[in-house]
Amino acid sequence: KELPADPVMDNRSRQVFNACFSFVKPLQPSNPSLVHSSKNFTDELGVSIKDEAKLVQVMSGAAAFNGFESYAMCYGGHQFGNWAGQLGDGRAINIAEVDLKDGINWKFQLKGAGPTPYSRNSDGLAVLRSSVREYLCSEAMHHLGVPTTRALSLVKTGDLVRRDIMYDGNPENEQGAIVCRVSPSFIRFGNFEIFASRQDKENLQKLVDYTIKHHYPHLGEARDKSTYLKFFEDVADRTLEMIVHWQRVGFVHGVMNTDNMSILGLTIDYGPYGWLEDYDPLWTPNTTDAQGKRYRFGHQPDIALWNLVQLANALYPLIEEVEPLQTILEKFRTNFQANYHKMMCGKLGLFSEENVPKEFIQNVENLLEQWEIDMTIFFREFSKNITDFDMLWEGILKSSYLDIKKLETGRKDWAVWFDSFSNYLAQEKISMDERIIKMKALNPKYVLRNYMAQLAIDDAENNDYNLLDELYQLLSKPYEEQSGMEKWYAKRPDWAKHKVGCSM
Ligand code: AMP
Ligand code: MG
Ligand code: MG
Repeated sequence: KELPADPVMDNRSRQVFNACFSFVKPLQPSNPSLVHSSKNFTDELGVSIKDEAKLVQVMSGAAAFNGFESYAMCYGGHQFGNWAGQLGDGRAINIAEVDLKDGINWKFQLKGAGPTPYSRNSDGLAVLRSSVREYLCSEAMHHLGVPTTRALSLVKTGDLVRRDIMYDGNPENEQGAIVCRVSPSFIRFGNFEIFASRQDKENLQKLVDYTIKHHYPHLGEARDKSTYLKFFEDVADRTLEMIVHWQRVGFVHGVMNTDNMSILGLTIDYGPYGWLEDYDPLWTPNTTDAQGKRYRFGHQPDIALWNLVQLANALYPLIEEVEPLQTILEKFRTNFQANYHKMMCGKLGLFSEENVPKEFIQNVENLLEQWEIDMTIFFREFSKNITDFDMLWEGILKSSYLDIKKLETGRKDWAVWFDSFSNYLAQEKISMDERIIKMKALNPKYVLRNYMAQLAIDDAENNDYNLLDELYQLLSKPYEEQSGMEKWYAKRPDWAKHKVGCSM
């Protein structure tokens, strides 16, 4: 281990200084069993699981992986806009680091494997409900082409976990579960912030140097101010790329605290996330977002920038110049606008985006919002035929949550929009066939709507994993037509309207 370890061996909650991580052992599960494992991912990694019983032992924390000394990481973070001090892996334990055939050193982490020094007042455990949500969504995001941590397995521990899901003071026992999530790195903005907040420049620099060496090696061997600046710039670029993808597929993270921002620009920590159904930029899946709905869909770019400002502050002791950091942050804003514009034009089949004014995109966003149109269905239907207004209108009828009578009054607004769309389309250069292929690759047919996850959870709680597997398979090809799966290409049912997933 190249980074400083906590010399104290004690899983009890405490402040940990001068260390990036603490050695901790997972709790022994009383009766672990496999719920699902990600064959797509193990195939990609070139790993074949020969012994399922052994897999369950390792992925539930019952047995160590090849004598690996497991550990939890120390980090801090800004939560809902406020500095929260030390947080750390309160319920995640790294159980393996393995070089695989793709040349990447993958880190394997069990989420919900018991208390660590960073558990504060909580139990270090996870319930089946939140684990199914993380497991399905992180794999789905990967197949959508969104940078993300992966999930390798989902197990039940056989133990009960006490949770107050309704926040009504009546906790219930739920089935305990563990997701094994996997990433080249689990380092977050908060890992840097904790050292900066403690004015521990020495360890801050060690961690930055380590991160550059292992994850940004193209920055070279030099460790000077200009390398650190370039590092920050690269992190900003990767973060930007991730957010553009979120906006493209309608993903709302829900808890974009700085401890949930990966230094590799990966989507991490699937808690109360959700998918936009009727297009509403102000929607958030986070029912506990106390600070007035900070983590709404349309705020994600600004929050990412705010989080990058916190990272800039944390790196400042190594750079000691404000202006170049500010330049990078300003560039984020302008680059985001350009990239977002390009992405939205592409979703509409316009690939000469320089011809398209920003207001045109704003107009379609306003229409989608006003007519309560399901984002996924609208763009996918539009990808079938973009030259015929009647087809567009059919797609709108299919995707709107309003009743048809009310919707009819919008027909002329859409016709006006479609006229200007047709003008931009006429200026395009690539062939229609090629355009449709490119559009479909930007507009998924299947996403993990909240109610879908909920149905899989309800069955899984009764030991029936068929639906979970069906959704796992479905979402591994989100851009493809799949026979027999049309039922998942539909607006959310009425009963699911105000239900959101819970992260605890
Ligand atoms: P999150 O809101 O999921 O990003 O979590 C924020 C912090 O709370 C992190 O330090 C987590 O490790 C910690 N945490 C969340 N849930 C638990 C739990 N059940 N037990 C211990 N720590 C937790
Ligand atoms: Mg977190
Ligand atoms: Mg979480």
